[in-house]
Amino acid sequence: MSSIEEMYEQMGICSSVHKFGKQIEAKLAKRFLEIDERAEYNQMKVILAMQKNRVSEACFHYASGYGYDDLGRDTLEKVYADVFHTEAALVRPQITCGTHALALALSANLRPGDELVSVAGKPYDTLEEVIGIRPSKGSLAEYGITYSQVDLLEDGSFDFENISHAITEKTKMVTIQRSKGYQTRPSFSVDQIGAAIAFVKRIKPDVICMVDNCYGEFVETIEPSDVGADLVVGSLIKNPGGGLAPIGGYIAGKEELIENCGYRLTSPGLGREVGASLGVMQSFYQGLFLAPSVTASALKGAIFAANIYESLGYAVVPNGRESRHDIIQAVELKVPEAVIAFCRGIQAAAPVDSYVTPEPWAMPGYDSDVIMAAGAFVQGSSIELSADGPMKPPYAVYFQGGLTWPHAKLGILMSLEYLVRAKLVTL
Ligand SMILES: *Cc1c(COP(=O)(O)O)cnc(C)c1O
Repeated sequence: MSSIEEMYEQMGICSSVHKFGKQIEAKLAKRFLEIDERAEYNQMKVILAMQKNRVSEACFHYASGYGYDDLGRDTLEKVYADVFHTEAALVRPQITCGTHALALALSANLRPGDELVSVAGKPYDTLEEVIGIRPSKGSLAEYGITYSQVDLLEDGSFDFENISHAITEKTKMVTIQRSKGYQTRPSFSVDQIGAAIAFVKRIKPDVICMVDNCYGEFVETIEPSDVGADLVVGSLIKNPGGGLAPIGGYIAGKEELIENCGYRLTSPGLGREVGASLGVMQSFYQGLFLAPSVTASALKGAIFAANIYESLGYAVVPNGRESRHDIIQAVELKVPEAVIAFCRGIQAAAPVDSYVTPEPWAMPGYDSDVIMAAGAFVQGSSIELSADGPMKPPYAVYFQGGLTWPHAKLGILMSLEYLVRAKLVTL
């Protein structure tokens, strides 16, 4: 039988890279234990919600056509509402991705003349076209919905003073992005988000507060909906899908706002009553069931990567020690060749498509070329081990996911292996 060292060698990891990884991992035992404890808490939360709503095998049956009385769909939406402690939720395969879920939550609850305010600075790249920051067909701007933005302070915290000026009688909705996305600012903790929401509501109590929760679910033991968010929105090919959901998005929040989302998703008059679940329900339920421990694996990978690259002298966000509020790890690799090598290493560690070579490319929704590494079971799934690097300074690579900790670890070691081979790093 091969030893573990020989297994890594077969994978193409040289002994100095393996040894380096071992030294780093040895220092992380306490962090990993804390992550496991949080996963345990969140696992209870999910199982309790499933038991309370009497999830049964009948919930997994195929529903077609209009989808009236689709038991699996309707029960799953109650389960999500209980997990997020909200009045209602919309969880559907017809919501095609996270951007779509966010666009839906916005367009369903804003009307011509209303203003949307982002209090967390520039939103995620794809939202620029949704809002109309970059002119785009069908944007909110085309429908007469205005937008204003309050940039974060230099240290990445909320600029409360300018938030108070930005909220006017036109302000209908405020959006807060929990995760850094493709930026190098820190991600927000749920408590920080709660403080921002409380501040906004003191100025104008009826403002709808929406949180883009992508990559944040199950990282902490509370969610933004526990601290006053009226809507929380995310993608099922990220954390809450647990790697099994093949498509989908969710919106959880106040009943009236979720009802509006239903009418916008399908049609006025029809709303949430239609939308057959087409056999994907078992993967949605089972994915949610796995999500707390899958998220924990991804977090361990992110912390491992932070510690590896920090000790090699690279700037990493978050750093190797600070608390985590999402699963994304940014590593500033300084030169484009290193971004390419890093992504090729991640790709080479994948269970699927390990033999393909990622190249930088123009992607819809992004304003520079992007190189993406993903050898995923679900196309583009970023709860699976994946890395994205926009080809622009500071040449940061954004690394996330890993359905299992051993795979996340392999991917990071392989990224280092490729940097060593390209003579960009010496151990
Ligand atoms: C991924 C992501 C989105 C968009 O989700 P897609 O599924 O890629 O459309 C929006 N906001 C944040 C913060 C994200 O991480």
